[in-house]
This record gives sequence, C-alpha cells and structure tokens, in this order.
Amino acid sequence: MNDLSYILNELGEDREQYFRAISPPIMQTSNFAFKKVEDLRKVFEDEFSTYLYSRGLNPTVDILRQKLAALDEAEDCLVFNSGASAIFASVFSNVQSGDHIVSVRNPYTWAQRMFDNILPRFGISTTYVDGTHIENFERAILPNTRIIYLESPNSWDFALQDLRAVADLARAEDIITICDNSYCTPLYQKPVVMGIDMVLQSATKYIGGHSDVVAGVLTGTRQMMKKIFDNELLNMGNGITPFNAWLLIRGLRTLPVRLERISGTTAKVVDYLKKHPQVEEVIFPFDPSFPQYELAREQMAGACGLFTIVMKAEKMQQIVTFCESLRHILMAVSWGGHESLAIPRCASIKPEHFDAGNRVHKMIRFYVGLEDPDYLIADFEQAFAKSR
Ligand SMILES: *Cc1c(COP(=O)(O)O)cnc(C)c1O
Repeated sequence: MNDLSYILNELGEDREQYFRAISPPIMQTSNFAFKKVEDLRKVFEDEFSTYLYSRGLNPTVDILRQKLAALDEAEDCLVFNSGASAIFASVFSNVQSGDHIVSVRNPYTWAQRMFDNILPRFGISTTYVDGTHIENFERAILPNTRIIYLESPNSWDFALQDLRAVADLARAEDIITICDNSYCTPLYQKPVVMGIDMVLQSATKYIGGHSDVVAGVLTGTRQMMKKIFDNELLNMGNGITPFNAWLLIRGLRTLPVRLERISGTTAKVVDYLKKHPQVEEVIFPFDPSFPQYELAREQMAGACGLFTIVMKAEKMQQIVTFCESLRHILMAVSWGGHESLAIPRCASIKPEHFDAGNRVHKMIRFYVGLEDPDYLIADFEQAFAKSR
C-alpha cells in the first residue's frame, strides 16, 4: 500500500516492538550486541543488512528511511546529516579521476562549490548548462560524462528542467541523473517516477518544517543506496543521528497540511505583490506569467512557499531599508519552517558593484510560512512604505 496517509502514519512503524507507543522510540545507542559469532560474521560482510553500529544503520533512522523511500516511490533511501552531505555522497560515489559532469547552471551553492573547488582536485570537470532547453544538455555531453546534475525548480529563479526528457537522454547515453528536489518535496514532484536515477532534498526545509534540524535525503535503487552506504556514508560518517531522524518523522506527520496551508497563503501573497507598484516582477513557477508555466504544471503537483520578487529600486538602499523594516518576516537563509523569511540578493553583492539596471541585483527571495496571509501582507505594506 502506498497511500500517503499510510506512509506518514504507519509505514515502517512496528508498535508491537515498543509497548504500542504512538511515537517511535529514539534508539539512542551507538552499538548493538550479538549472541552468535556467525551473526557477527554476516554483518561484517554486509553492514547494510542489519544493526551493528549507529554510524551505519539505526532502527529510528530506518523508520524514516522507509517512509521517505515510499514518498519518492524509490526502492531505498539514505538520510544524511545535511542536504549538502547527500549532494556530496551522491556525486562523489559515481565519479573517478578524468570524469566529466554536466550540471544545470546556478545549482545550490554547495553543489557548485563541490563542482568548482573540490572535484577539480581529483581531475573531474563540470560543464554548466542553461537547463531550460534539452539541446543544451545534448551539446554538453562528452564521451566521459558520468553524471547529469539537476535542480528543478532552482531555488532562486525557479528555472525548470524537463525531467522526463533529460532522463531519457541520459539513459540512452548511460549517464546517471541526480535531481535536487528540495523545492517541491516528494509531495509535489516525483523525479524517480519520471526516470531520474537519484533524488535528493534538503530535509532541513519542508520535511523538518520547524527550523530545528539540518538533514538531507537521498533516494534511488537499493543497489545504488548500498554502494553509497558501504563507501561514502560509512566512511564520512555523515548519516543522520537518531534524534534528528525522530524529529523528521514528526515533521512528516504534518507535511501535507503544512504544504497545503503554505500554498494557499503563498497564492494570496503573490497576488498582492504582483499588483504592488514597488514590485517590478514576481517569479513563481505556478504564476501564469512564469516562462515555463506549462512545464511546471505538467511535472509538479504543487508549488509553494518560495518565490522571488524583483523590486523597483534606483538605489540599493531602498532594498536594504525594505528588508530591514520587515517586522515579522525574518531576514534569514533557508526556508520550509513555520516562519516567513526574506533574503535580498544584494547581500551577496559588494555595495559598489550594485547595478540598478541588473534585475538579479534587485531580487529578494521570500519564503511564506504558516502565518496568516493578512499578517504578512500588512508587514510587506509597512516595509514598502518606508522604502519609497
Ligand atoms: C538548503 C538546500 C540544500 C542543502 O541542504 P542543507 O540541509 O542545508 O545541507 C540543497 N539544495 C537546496 C535547493 C537547498 O535549498
């Protein structure tokens, strides 16, 4: 049974084993004892088979793994102590010296830093492409291309890739596809079903949902997850802790209602901002003005929370004043929690380089949390008034 309610409330939970407690125990142990040498021998041969030591498998983490694999409709899942760790392990496990990677341009910061700063030390090069056209991938593929790295939608400009088309292209060339699905979560997009080999997401965002845990999810075939577990996960020791796994299980219980609430509020806030005279443009995949609106509707079941505006501004100070005047919407990185957030692009630009003619410099990314729409709109309203 793969019903969403079943996955979130029951799958992986054997309550008979722990006093019929509703909430699963946090199995806070580093190791597990054995009665037979033969059993030890078995687990030494294959640590992915049973509990030996919590750097590897742990029962609380296993409950979470089963739920997350089922949500993605993937065979198996690994959970890491950050999304960045999931990115690193998925890529590193599948390349060797001399290999080439094709990545969508402007991927998540730490994916890009891995491609630019770490992998070149091992003789692995990366070509970035504009992922909005499949021909760009076709042109970038070389005989030594091993991985196509995707992020759809991108978490700043929301550019999409046609996941089915890229998956078909990669399969034909024997190239592994990896997609960062943090924006959509498995509830709103299932890249595995579209033919993508591995899907990752930062569970810090919507799965955790309360801004209190950093974690990452990777799903794919059992064989691929075993390969990454046996090598990168056990060697780097970057698996999630039992307590953080428990927090994510708790987060999953309410994921559908939180996303539904956030979607409704986001629609109202986007509508308000589109009409605002101090806003040049609102970039949101489910807005009909979005250049890839049709593809978004086709491959995503929802869009929520995260969107970007281009603010009308002649000076950087107007953007600074606006952001610093927000009273309830907090200025912070990340997203997916209960609290609404703002992050101006100009924070990563030296003030003397600010160019009012460059729309990217005037971007502010917002995340809509669980607050009332009117509460957020009133906050925007007073901050816009101060920045005129
Ligand atoms: C946050 C984020 C990550 C990294 O996840 P962490 O849990 O912060 O390590 C990866 N991709 C995207 C799109 C993100 O927003």
